[in-house]
Amino acid sequence: MGDAIQTPRLVIFDLDDTLIQTHAASSHTWRTLAEEFAPEAGIEESVLHTAIDHARKWFWADAERHHAWRLRMAESASEALRMAARDLGRPFEDAARLQHFADRYTKLFFESLFLFPNALDVLHELRARGTSLAMITNGGAEWQRRKINQHTLAPLFDCIIVEGEFGVGKPAPEIYRHALDTLGVDAHDAWMVGDRLDWDVLGPQKLGITGVWFDFAARGLPEARAGDPDRVIRALADLSKQPGF
Ligand SMILES: [Mg+2]
Repeated sequence: MGDAIQTPRLVIFDLDDTLIQTHAASSHTWRTLAEEFAPEAGIEESVLHTAIDHARKWFWADAERHHAWRLRMAESASEALRMAARDLGRPFEDAARLQHFADRYTKLFFESLFLFPNALDVLHELRARGTSLAMITNGGAEWQRRKINQHTLAPLFDCIIVEGEFGVGKPAPEIYRHALDTLGVDAHDAWMVGDRLDWDVLGPQKLGITGVWFDFAARGLPEARAGDPDRVIRALADLSKQPGF
């Protein structure tokens, strides 16, 4: 692809770990929950935290499990906690307490959720240039809308597609096509920006959308990958400095 890329008429953003710092909020929330839960479970805090990490990795590693549970994030939190306690030989099955921790997770998570630096500036800048903006986000309707509302993002976007509302999620081609069709933009005039290579870069590229990988953690491209992004950025502010923009 390279230098023939046109200035985009449409930029499609992912939400989690692209506009908002979801991973950081989740890590912070789990550290706090492990601290709160450890005395009750009779488990040393660091041991519990490690077991929770292990349970979460297992939990999210499988595509089908990921799909099923990302639509029920609060329950996924109490399930990870339950699995960790079980793995440590301290089974914890009290439904009311598990519900309490699901609620605690939700409260702490949303309190810890922040936008990336410059996210609003970049969105405003693009709008000022006349670029259309879309958001495509995987996850449950209520959970994702709460994030969007908390940061007053909806007024900045011409089109917002949430997996839980649309019925299918990334990387199903129809979800990207829906954004293009809704805004009447050809795939070759659109960029998509996001932190997941499979959902935000390679999926859109199959339709002819320019895929911009947001390497927010500055980790570099993984060795094992199914394709390469057209562009890589490490800060949202770098988006408009890309060739073709
Ligand atoms: Mg993401």
